[in-house]
Amino acid sequence: MIDIKNNLLQINEKIRNAEAKSGRKENSVKLMAVSKFHLIEEIQQAIDCGQLLFGENKVQEANQKFPELFQNNQNIELQMIGVMQSNKVKNAVKIASCIQSVDRIDLLNEIEKQCAKIEKNINILFEIHTGEETKSGFECFEDVQMALNLFSENKFPHITPKGFMTMAPFTEDKSLIHKSFETVYNLSQKLQQQFPSFDLSELSMGMSGDFEIAIEHGSTLVRVGTAIFGERDYSKK
Ligand SMILES: *Cc1c(COP(=O)(O)O)cnc(C)c1O
Repeated sequence: MIDIKNNLLQINEKIRNAEAKSGRKENSVKLMAVSKFHLIEEIQQAIDCGQLLFGENKVQEANQKFPELFQNNQNIELQMIGVMQSNKVKNAVKIASCIQSVDRIDLLNEIEKQCAKIEKNINILFEIHTGEETKSGFECFEDVQMALNLFSENKFPHITPKGFMTMAPFTEDKSLIHKSFETVYNLSQKLQQQFPSFDLSELSMGMSGDFEIAIEHGSTLVRVGTAIFGERDYSKK
C-alpha cells in the first residue's frame, strides 16, 4: 500500500532540510505533486493532506481528471509539464495556470492565440534542454533571449514569463545532475539581468530522484511524482 500522506510528510521534511542546508529561506521551495498516470482518488487523497499544486504531462489525461477535481476543490492549481504539441494548447490553457514546457517560439504564438480567445492570462516557464535523453527544451541562451525580446515588444499580452524549467539527465553520475541544474541557474541569472522588467525567479528543477540536488542549485519548485504516489503503472494506459 502506498501511503500518500506519509510520503508527502517525508518529502516536505526533506525539502525543508535541503533549504536549511543550502542556506535558503524556509518555504522558498514549492512542492508540485506530479499526478500523471494516477487516479482522481489518489489525487484527492493528496489534496486532503493539504497538497494544492499539481502537474500533469498530457493535456488529454489532465482534461479527463481535473475538471472534476476543480469542481470539488476550489484551491487547487494545475500546471502542464510535458512536451506540448500546438494542437493541444487550446485544451491546455483552459485548465492550467502555467505551461512549464515552453520549448519553442511557435508554441508561444499558439498559447497567445488561444488565451486571447478565452480572455485568460497564463504563466509560462522556458524549458531548457540540459539532459541527454530528453529532446525538448531551448538549446541555447540566444534562443531564449529572442523569445524574451518578443515579450519586451509586447507580442504576447496574455502570457507572463515566470522563469525556467529543466529535466536533469537520468544518470547515476551525480556531477552531470549538478551541472544541469547549475547551467540553468546561471542562465536564469543572466537573463534576469538582461530583462529586469520581468520577474523570472521561478526555477522548476528537481524530481523524485534529484530534488535535493536541485534545491542546492536554487530550485524554487520541485516536481515530484513517484516519491508521492508510487511507481507509475504504464500498462494501464
Ligand atoms: C514525470 C515527471 C516528473 C516526476 O517524475 P518522478 O521521477 O516520478 O518524480 C517531473 N517532471 C517531469 C517533466 C515529468 O515528466
